[in-house]
Amino acid sequence: MGSSETVSPPQTTDMESSTEKQPPEGHESFPAKMVAREVNAFFGKTHALHNVSLDVPEKHVLAIIGPSGCGKSTFLRCLNRMHEVAGGSMKGTITLDGQDTASIDAVDLRRRVGMVFQKPNPFPTMSIFDNVAAGLRFNGMHNRKKLEEIVERCLRQAALWDEVKDSLNKSGMSISGGQQQRLCIARTLAVNPEVVLMDEPASALDPLSTAKVEELIYELKSNYTIAIVTHNMQQAARVSDMTAFFYIGELIEVGETKRLFTTPQKKQTEDYITGRFG
Ligand code: ADP
Repeated sequence: MGSSETVSPPQTTDMESSTEKQPPEGHESFPAKMVAREVNAFFGKTHALHNVSLDVPEKHVLAIIGPSGCGKSTFLRCLNRMHEVAGGSMKGTITLDGQDTASIDAVDLRRRVGMVFQKPNPFPTMSIFDNVAAGLRFNGMHNRKKLEEIVERCLRQAALWDEVKDSLNKSGMSISGGQQQRLCIARTLAVNPEVVLMDEPASALDPLSTAKVEELIYELKSNYTIAIVTHNMQQAARVSDMTAFFYIGELIEVGETKRLFTTPQKKQTEDYITGRFG
């Protein structure tokens, strides 16, 4: 693989104006909510991401695909600075609405750029209600009526309300894995994020729950910017508007999902989507 084949970063150091004027190849269709430029990520001496320049389109779904270990999760974690919590370091720039994420308070950034993980992780000692309300309470909201309103709205948005409305006081662990994952999505939505990052959100779920989560992702994009990591190409094709293909820490190709899956421009992309490796 030649790095010359990857998306070329802009040649200017003025990140904001450069990203508006010169989106990388493949980004022409959608305005960006988050903009990553020349991102390099490290775990000690391991160089996990190499010069990744990629836009996250606003109120659309970006799928990040590629074989295991190619840096998909690392890139996702760079977007809300969870990478540094995981013990890594990063060079390059990532902006949110044009503001450098390095200059945003990390707690505030993670409220605005929420994350849903592979394994559903409800707070084990909390009820269904308290799981959704936890972030709001953490941010100082204690008005019961207001909390009830938001919890109901988020459980509805997560397509879970009808299944749990009569058992809100039951443990968040008492429901099925698929329901727990939708509970985690409701919990993420409760603090009113602008971007939702999803790291293989359906890979631990049965096919029915996977279909519900995919449907949900499709609906959420009218209000939220979504980036999803998946090793499931069919899933990427079903839920996303844009797809980025990563390989060994590099962004190989990005473009509209339909185009990327039908007429990939890079040989590595074609080899991967046709199952020649991965
Ligand atoms: P993917 O999500 O595509 O499977 P990752 O982003 O998890 O890939 O990993 C990218 C690279 O970073 C891999 O080489 C992986 O071994 C390494 N890596 C990931 N997490 C850690 C960590 N916590 N400590 C050290 N190396 C890590």
